[in-house]
This record gives sequence, structure tokens and C-alpha cells, in this order.
Amino acid sequence: MSAGAGPAPEERGWLIAANVVRWRRYGEGGQELRPGTKSYRGGSKVYVIESYAGSGHEQLTTIGRGRRTGTYITIDMATRNLHTFRAVAVHSPTVLRLCEEADVGGCWTAREDAEELALRLERLAAEYRTAHWSAAHPVPCRCHECLTLSRA
Ligand SMILES: [Zn+2]
Repeated sequence: MSAGAGPAPEERGWLIAANVVRWRRYGEGGQELRPGTKSYRGGSKVYVIESYAGSGHEQLTTIGRGRRTGTYITIDMATRNLHTFRAVAVHSPTVLRLCEEADVGGCWTAREDAEELALRLERLAAEYRTAHWSAAHPVPCRCHECLTLSRA
């Protein structure tokens, strides 16, 4: 970012970025696989908005480019379908606007808060996947855990 391009990122706010799982388990016992989610393509980057509702972390409010239109949407989704949570400074005017318009929350003002929750969400997302799909994985499986293992 060049000098004099407006307020420093710290002043604009922080969000948590995450990626949508390439494949999610689906159907009876999670024996089927679907690419991405209904709203997002697999692998796409979304921003998680700070929720003021404090209603747990199984669902998160996200901003991302919609699967069909490619334009930014604001939508609630299951945390288990996201991975690689990290704190990012927000630069996109569109994302900042949607962040302000969201009824449920907005940007973090402190980087440390976003970083702390990003770490927690990474752990929680893995826990939610395990808890949600207790049956054995389909064979072959391309869910996030299995893809990560096969790359290791
Ligand atoms: Zn799997």
C-alpha cells in the first residue's frame, strides 16, 4: 500500500479471511460429496464478519463472491465448511460497505482480536466437521481432512 492512500489498515478495520472447503460431505451419514457450498465455489475466499450476537460459532456471517453471480454477497454459513482462518486488513471498498451494512456485526478494530478468533475458528471448524459427520468417510473421500492428509 502506498503512502497517503488513506487511513492505515489498522484504522479501517480487520476481518477474518477463510477459504471454502473444495468438497463437503453431504447426505445420509455424509457419504456423498458436493463441491463447495450452495452459495460459494469450493476454494473461494470469504471474509468472516465479527458477530455481535454472540450466538456461538457454528454459523458465521460471511462476505464473499457468490457462486452464480461472482458478485459479493453477505450470507450465514456453517463454520465446518471453512478452513485456513486468518486475520486480514480490509482494503476493498465493497467489502467495507457490506461490512457496515450487515445487521449482525462489522469489522474488528483490533488486529489481535481478529487473530485470536481466527485461531479458535480453525480449531472449531475441525471439531464441527468431526462432530457433524460421525460416520466413517466415504471411500474415496475428498473432504477437507482427507484432501489435507493426501497432500501431506
Ligand atoms: Zn474425508
